[in-house]
Amino acid sequence: MRTWKWMLTAFLLITLSAMAQQSTGQSSSNAAPANVAASQPATTPAPTAQPAGSRPANPASGPASAAASAAMAPPTTMDQVVDRTILREHGLMELLKTRTPLVETYLQNLKADPKLGAVPSEDHYFLGRLDLGESIDRRDYLSRDESFQKNLLGGVSKLFKFEYKPMGFSWMIFADRDDFDRGHYTFKYVRREFLGDVRCLVFDVTPKKDAGKGRFLGRIWVEDQEYNIVRLNGTYAPRPRNAFYFHMDSWRLNLIPGYWVPAYIYSEEGDFSYGAKDKMAFKAQSRIWGYDLKKNAKEDELTSLRVDSVKDETPSTTDASPLEAQREWQQQAEDNVVERLQESGLVAPEGEVDKVLLTVVNNLIVTNNIDLPRPVRTRVMITSPLETFSVGNTIVVSRGLIDVLPDEASLAMVLSHELAHIVLGHNLGSKFAFNDRMLFSDESTYSNFGFRHNPDEEAAADAKAMELLKNSPYAQKLDVPSLFLKELTERAPTISALLTAHLGNSFTNDKGQLMRLSALSTTGPALDPNKLDQIAALPMGGRVKLNAWTDRVELTKSAPVAITSARDKMPFEVTPFFPRLSRLNSDANVGNATSASNAAPSN
Ligand SMILES: [Zn+2]
Repeated sequence: MRTWKWMLTAFLLITLSAMAQQSTGQSSSNAAPANVAASQPATTPAPTAQPAGSRPANPASGPASAAASAAMAPPTTMDQVVDRTILREHGLMELLKTRTPLVETYLQNLKADPKLGAVPSEDHYFLGRLDLGESIDRRDYLSRDESFQKNLLGGVSKLFKFEYKPMGFSWMIFADRDDFDRGHYTFKYVRREFLGDVRCLVFDVTPKKDAGKGRFLGRIWVEDQEYNIVRLNGTYAPRPRNAFYFHMDSWRLNLIPGYWVPAYIYSEEGDFSYGAKDKMAFKAQSRIWGYDLKKNAKEDELTSLRVDSVKDETPSTTDASPLEAQREWQQQAEDNVVERLQESGLVAPEGEVDKVLLTVVNNLIVTNNIDLPRPVRTRVMITSPLETFSVGNTIVVSRGLIDVLPDEASLAMVLSHELAHIVLGHNLGSKFAFNDRMLFSDESTYSNFGFRHNPDEEAAADAKAMELLKNSPYAQKLDVPSLFLKELTERAPTISALLTAHLGNSFTNDKGQLMRLSALSTTGPALDPNKLDQIAALPMGGRVKLNAWTDRVELTKSAPVAITSARDKMPFEVTPFFPRLSRLNSDANVGNATSASNAAPSN
């Protein structure tokens, strides 16, 4: 049964007197696609079901027969397809009910700009753990953003009494957690349609007359082999008096055999069309990842227990000198912290993006003749806020920052500052070499870790970074990094949540002033939004794709799209998700997907 508590956590309740619009305007058709699907093209079999058109619903039938399974005979009618879809949806809920993935929502409130269209006016960020058990709940990594509660609508808050639950954005991972069945819904076949490489059957889903509150209303895309829902687009109904539900576009990816896992949700409200008053408008991206975190932790325990060799086979035959011991100790602290961040779901496992970052770091190291006693390493933090920090010799860069950097020189600029800290010996102390300091709940990671430097160290690192850049292959390419810093400074007042670092130093202070490499921002060309070839910063989500199951990250392979107006640039902006869907390449993903195999009969 649904309860009121659940209802309240499930949507954004805005109580207002005279607001009637809930259209979705501002479609950003030129968005850089978040290309997240696996690369294997699908082999689509011949259709097994004939379109039957709309069908009268059968109110008597609940969830389809329990005897049915993914291995059963292909459906031959649309009724059977719907039954299979309902069955698969319940199977997904069952699979995920023990999971506690991370969910991140980044939201930008919008205002109309005569030249640039809808632009962010302020932003909000939420990160938490989602419990997909019986009652959907989440635990926040960050404390509730109080100012957002008071002022969603920028200046007109007096008119609006409103309650915000970040859960609202991540709620639409299932069409209906409790009652997704024919008793509550009517399914109307629309057409066939490809999403990426995957052929889908499209259905309009409407709640029945007395189905109750908070029912899904919209469209579902069902892949045509096992009949899993791969995309949900719509809202919830009926609309409460003086309130409304978000509109959401929710995408799933085939990351484990037989299942499509919720990964991306885009939400948008607002209407800037002629005659529409400047009402509430926002766009938001939610990302879900870390489905397999607990499993990973267990595997780690097992591997650490296995003893392969009875003696230490490291080549060194000498005892550690005091200096070597000191370095070993620091390495231990560094390894502990990076491992703990990965266990928390904040840092991605080692992968190909790390190598790209490391190549750029090595370009700086080699051309500056830097000789370090321990190797520099690079890792990706999975979250959106723009931040970098270093843990000993490991440089960590956030996914959000990699997304918005326009070119390699800008990446070098970002990395040079952290490399400077390492070269200058601004070390993480060694307190994290003691393992008890890793024993805290994942949710309190942000309060137990912090890798910020004091203003003196920051200034020294900036000066050293400029020196490193000037000796590097990037010396003649610093115009774009300079433009990036200018754009960031100009946008800073409206994207303060995106610019708030949670483990490292932020790019700007709380007044929106640039605190990183400001010397570089005063050189180079002026920022000019009308110059279409001047790309200072990219929209969110364009570069890095994330596997929601394994947390692995890789670079997207999307082709560049021509910019045709200043409105296309959308620096630092949220855009809709449009992942290219494809079926899991079972050969290539065996290693990643083993943990689901016990729960998921494949194909
Ligand atoms: Zn720094």
